[in-house]
Amino acid sequence: MKILVAVKRVVDAKIKVRPLPDHSGVDTKIAKMAMNPFDEIAVEEAVELREAGKADEVVAVTVGPLKAVDTLRVAMAIGADRSIHVKTDDALEPLAVAKVLKVLVEREQPGLVLLGKQAIDDDANQTGQMLSALCDMPLGTFASDIGFEDGRWIVTRETDGGTQTVSLASPAVVTADLRLAEPRYVTLPSMAKARKKPVETIELASLGLDTASRIRVLSVDEPPARKAGVMVASVDELVEKLKNEAHVL
Ligand code: AMP
Repeated sequence: MKILVAVKRVVDAKIKVRPLPDHSGVDTKIAKMAMNPFDEIAVEEAVELREAGKADEVVAVTVGPLKAVDTLRVAMAIGADRSIHVKTDDALEPLAVAKVLKVLVEREQPGLVLLGKQAIDDDANQTGQMLSALCDMPLGTFASDIGFEDGRWIVTRETDGGTQTVSLASPAVVTADLRLAEPRYVTLPSMAKARKKPVETIELASLGLDTASRIRVLSVDEPPARKAGVMVASVDELVEKLKNEAHVL
């Protein structure tokens, strides 16, 4: 059985991004890029499932520009067996990415499609849900554990109040939360090995999909600067300020 893992190239989580002067988006020209952190977790989990004998092959897929191949190489250094790069210079919205992934699901027939719960650039948290709807496949979001028993995926989901465990018919779509796995350290020898693994390139235009934007970004802005705090001398003063200044009591 095959596991398909979707990985997105995003601005490195450690970099502080700035809006462009015209507020049309975020300035990514000089920013360091990396694999979306939740996707790294998803790749690690897929590789661990293969190592545990629950799958035979892990295929990493990305939709993005030529440089997104770097992200696929990292996925293969973690342990993915091969990759598919759907090439486009357009920044696609979750619905468009889900349509592309659907084509790959139909072609590759995986038993499990793993995605990150969200991409840290758009924070959309939509692609997995949309893919599951488009493919009519069961969905487990915010996974913190994945097992495979009697042909079904047993997924523990992180919820506000604790966890929920669901049993999904295979094939299924699952999105990775923070505690699902701890990505292994990518070593130089594993990167060298990854360079020899196959990457198939597909031009987005050749798929004949409608990937036009449905969303218009009106403005991208910095969050308002936080006001300086004040020291209070007593609990009484704190309560007075919460009542009369902050109006929260
Ligand atoms: P989002 O819905 O944008 O928050 O993204 C959720 C997940 O969908 C990500 O963590 C990735 O696993 C996957 N994804 C989103 N965009 C792409 C892309 N361009 N290429 C590959 N996977 C993607």
